[in-house]
Amino acid sequence: MQEKVKSVLKGIIHPETQQNIVENGVVEQVTAREDKITVVLCFPKSRDPFAVRIKSLVEQMLKEQFPQAAENITVVIKEGTPRPPQPKRESTTVKVGKIIAVASGKGGVGKSTVTANLALTLRNMGFRVGVLDADIYGPSQHKMFDREGYLPDAVQENGQDYIVPAQSMDIELMSIGFFINPDDALMWRGAMATSALKQLLHQTMWGGLDFLLIDMPPGTGDIHLTMISEIKLDGAIIVSTPQQIAVADVVRGVEMFRHEQVNVPVLGVVENMAWFTPKELPDNKYYIFGRGGARAYAEQAGVPFLGDIPIIQSIMDGGECGKPSVATDPDVEHYYREIAQKIIAAL
Ligand code: ADP
Repeated sequence: MQEKVKSVLKGIIHPETQQNIVENGVVEQVTAREDKITVVLCFPKSRDPFAVRIKSLVEQMLKEQFPQAAENITVVIKEGTPRPPQPKRESTTVKVGKIIAVASGKGGVGKSTVTANLALTLRNMGFRVGVLDADIYGPSQHKMFDREGYLPDAVQENGQDYIVPAQSMDIELMSIGFFINPDDALMWRGAMATSALKQLLHQTMWGGLDFLLIDMPPGTGDIHLTMISEIKLDGAIIVSTPQQIAVADVVRGVEMFRHEQVNVPVLGVVENMAWFTPKELPDNKYYIFGRGGARAYAEQAGVPFLGDIPIIQSIMDGGECGKPSVATDPDVEHYYREIAQKIIAAL
């Protein structure tokens, strides 16, 4: 009904600006139901020479077009600066090929490490890749990609504001970590983090990406809800350690994405820190945290098993030194490549 009223009001042209009164912001507010319409008109001065004339034109047109509300049409004049309505902005994610959420049931299982190394693996396979760190509880991608202290620039294009991502090793990176002090992390929970993330999601000036990997916070919470409702995720992968795999958090994560109203395909489960092989005993595998749990869980839950990654010193070191292990250790990439290939096939 509101839109119907506005489209009628678009028929009134302001004699001075020659724009219709919706477009030039004179119509500030419309509330409407079938039998009652209220319109607030805004003029720079309440004694504006055009105010009375436009008000009576509005009343007359609404009475003609909406006779069922004729007795209840109120048009109010307000003094203020008319603000033309902003055109609805298009999210910058619409230009991204595939958007994948990397999630986990709990923190500390290696979700961020998998995200960073997977991003580099996809880059090595020839894709253009971006990473968005949405883990408000412990953003770490800016450290992993050695971009601590990066201050994103804001630029304007066609009257819209955009945020410029950081670049590292050919990966485009945007992180909630660029905007928060690690000591303030707690206060970013909730509404503030959600609105900041929405901005990062829709206004980051990605440069033609094939893949955007989103490092999600652990668990299932407000941020997941925001992501799911704000953008179309093409898939989700769940990272777990063997001892965490069957716990309720992982199951809840899978169910959240698979929920009929959410409907994000779960591309599969990655088992991280699956075993340890000491350098001096290269043929031995020690399943420190248990064995085969992820495979069994994946089968039982009906989701693909994407692969397992052992405990490797260079993977841990990579997180500390600002260069994910795939960029430095030739023995590591094949673990992530197997996972990447399965993801590509699934998409
Ligand atoms: P999350 O994002 O799930 O909180 P992180 O990616 O920060 O977890 O990883 C937690 C810790 O485990 C980090 O110190 C990281 O370097 C280390 N880590 C993750 N995966 C491995 C691995 N496969 N081998 C060795 N260390 C790992």
